[in-house]
Amino acid sequence: MQNKNCNVLIVGFGPTGAVLANLLSKYNLSIHVLEKESKVYNLPRAVHFDDEIMRIFKSIGIYEKLIKKTIINKGTKFVDENDNLILDWPRPRQITDNGFYPSYRFHQPDLEKILRKNLALNNNLKIYYNTELIELENKGKVVKAKCINKSTNTSQTIYADYVVGCDGANSFVKKIIGQETIDFGFQEKWAVLDLIMKKNKKNLPDRTIQYCSQNTPTTYCRNVGRRRRWEISLNKNFTEKDILNENKIWNFLSKWVTQNDAIIERKTIYNFKSLIAKKWRKGRIFIAGDAAHLSPPFMGQGMCSGLRDVSNLFWKLAHCCYFGHKEKILETYESERLENVKEYIITTINMGKLLNSIGDPNVSNTVKENQDGSRVMTSIKPPLGPGLGSKSDKLRGHVFPFINLQKSKIQNFDEQFDKELILLSKQELNCTDIKHINVNKYKELLKTFNNLNIKALILRPDRFILSSLENNSDINEFINKSILQMS
Ligand SMILES: Cc1cc2nc3c(=O)[nH]c(=O)nc-3n(C[C@H](O)[C@H](O)[C@H](O)COP(=O)(O)OP(=O)(O)OC[C@H]3O[C@@H](n4cnc5c(N)ncnc54)[C@H](O)[C@@H]3O)c2cc1C
Repeated sequence: MQNKNCNVLIVGFGPTGAVLANLLSKYNLSIHVLEKESKVYNLPRAVHFDDEIMRIFKSIGIYEKLIKKTIINKGTKFVDENDNLILDWPRPRQITDNGFYPSYRFHQPDLEKILRKNLALNNNLKIYYNTELIELENKGKVVKAKCINKSTNTSQTIYADYVVGCDGANSFVKKIIGQETIDFGFQEKWAVLDLIMKKNKKNLPDRTIQYCSQNTPTTYCRNVGRRRRWEISLNKNFTEKDILNENKIWNFLSKWVTQNDAIIERKTIYNFKSLIAKKWRKGRIFIAGDAAHLSPPFMGQGMCSGLRDVSNLFWKLAHCCYFGHKEKILETYESERLENVKEYIITTINMGKLLNSIGDPNVSNTVKENQDGSRVMTSIKPPLGPGLGSKSDKLRGHVFPFINLQKSKIQNFDEQFDKELILLSKQELNCTDIKHINVNKYKELLKTFNNLNIKALILRPDRFILSSLENNSDINEFINKSILQMS
């Protein structure tokens, strides 16, 4: 049998790969990372993440460093060509069920540097920079990966239990798994202009503004520090050529800023797409992040979806590394994630249509019409698609709230279930197969249980509920059934 070099080989060290490396670092597993570039890409793409993602960042120990580099986002307004409000999506400064604010703004290179630095203490992790994956094959109980170091032009073969392709939109790993995609049909070229203000300009909005128009749909984003972004749909009013002409750019921006106010940090063109790969796994090879799905950025959920992917996958991989390969567990990765990311992409496309003034303001079923006719949206929180747990269990696949056990020794309750399943129950139990907490000992947990009207819960390391037990059912049968799924 072929000797293996590592448990998990991660291809690509963008945000998805770096978060996966951090999540896997909770276990004593050997991890290798291949990255074809030599350092962090120095310009931002993503500028926003949400509460669910901050909870993941907290779980990998970067919250304290990252929070200093973020601002709390106040939300988004969609306005028409006369600046009339069409749809309001406020993100109130209130702590959500995930334990954080609903929405944050950040500078992507800051995040990526923090993620990489956080891995420095893991002696089980090996990062190969300047190294590109060029061949990949399932070989029975291992995956064979051939890569080439671009500085020395030397090649190397690595054998791993599992390989995860976090290698972005032009993923090589996806080519191995299968190129077929579900195309949701939204494809547009947009210019992205990142500006740095020379001084504070108070009349620029604090919110993201989506300027809906049939002529030139435009997004304005208030980013961290003095950074501001404009995204402009390319068409006959603002063409691909115009982006090369600074006078045209300043002329377009004159509604908001002039050359005296700001410098252009970068100008570029993106081809926004809306795709999901039909297959996310082949044997022991997986894809995650942009390799698995692409979304226009109108909701700021592309990177977030990639981080949800690896949060779903890391503990399943770790389980298989420790207890043996389990097809049944691994096949739930795609089915659970696909439905969730699909809902984000569809809502994003609805926003894109509204921006183009060809769509309805009812972009999701969380939009409510006020008595005065204005519309307000609350954030969507799609549950997981079918997978582990029972369809008939109403709580299965929903996020378990972040619980702050103020005065207890286990103040950050999330840490209790960040590596393995945990059983919470109202009764004292003598179980050895699963870690157990009696909720009666913790006022806040008991309150949550009473609100949900349940007797027991099994929680997954990604903070989702695996299964719940209503008050009148048999607890031993419930535990056995839930654990059986993992064996
Ligand atoms: C204009 C714009 C705005 C956006 N705004 C947001 C936002 O506000 N919020 C949000 O959540 N998302 C946003 N996104 C989406 C977000 O930027 C991406 O989803 C995210 O960066 C993808 O991360 P990733 O790690 O999956 O892929 P990438 O960041 O593309 O990383 C892939 C890595 O793999 C490496 N690689 C590729 N091939 C190989 C190989 N063969 N061998 C070794 N290494 C390889 C690459 O060098 C790269 O480092 C935005 C996107 C755009 C374009």
